[in-house]
Amino acid sequence: MNVWTGQARSQAADDDYLDGNALAGPLSEVFSIDITAALGTCSGCGAEGAIAEARLYVSAPAKILRCPSCGAVLLRLDEREGRLILDLSGFRNVTIHLD
Ligand SMILES: [Zn+2]
Repeated sequence: MNVWTGQARSQAADDDYLDGNALAGPLSEVFSIDITAALGTCSGCGAEGAIAEARLYVSAPAKILRCPSCGAVLLRLDEREGRLILDLSGFRNVTIHLD
């Protein structure tokens, strides 16, 4: 299994990000479980890791979660005008442990 490496390509290799734990609050409005504890697999490079350990960029209008291995966008959370748009298309899959 390939795991998050934290060695993203230069496009995301800056220090202007939080870890994925910062998504717990905004996503608590969508999921009844703590989604940051789930495991995600990157569609770009196949790396897998806890969503809490991915890189969250909050300076753009939308919150952007990037793969720490390749820098690909995993998740986009856009909240405005009373709507929340959640794009999970950067994940090949997300595994949620129910127990
Ligand atoms: Zn990746």
